[in-house]
Amino acid sequence: MRADRPATAHRPDLVEPADLEPELRKLVEAAIRARANAHAPYSGFAVGAAAVDADLRLHRGCNVENSSYGLTVCAERVALFSAVADGASDIRAIAVAGPGHRGRPTPPCGACRQVIWDLAGDVQVLLATLDGQVEVWQAADLLPAAFGPDDLQDILETKDER
Ligand SMILES: [Zn+2]
Repeated sequence: MRADRPATAHRPDLVEPADLEPELRKLVEAAIRARANAHAPYSGFAVGAAAVDADLRLHRGCNVENSSYGLTVCAERVALFSAVADGASDIRAIAVAGPGHRGRPTPPCGACRQVIWDLAGDVQVLLATLDGQVEVWQAADLLPAAFGPDDLQDILETKDER
């Protein structure tokens, strides 16, 4: 069964590349370039992502599909896991570039929204079309009332007492 999107779902207006801050434009361009490395032999749905940290280092990702379909990992998660592997602890923004639909960029799946929230917090999430137009979101708006590290705090603080 397929649920229709609620009528209240609001998407921000598209921003032209020239209207982005230079660092964010570079981030979007890195996400678009990373898409060329997508391993998507089964779906043909290529996605690129890039995360920027506080030192302006870029961490790239692309979707990596698997013949056992459920093992596929999305570009956003690959970029964020790469940032962790690179020792980056302060992600400032992430950009995602996918094929889009009806002129709108590809939104992150639910799993990726959770991982963005956990590893990067309420950062800007730039969803890009392949010609570099972007919807600029905040992570909190992509995942309202998110479950996150704070929700484990009470149990972690009392685990030695159990
Ligand atoms: Zn995803």
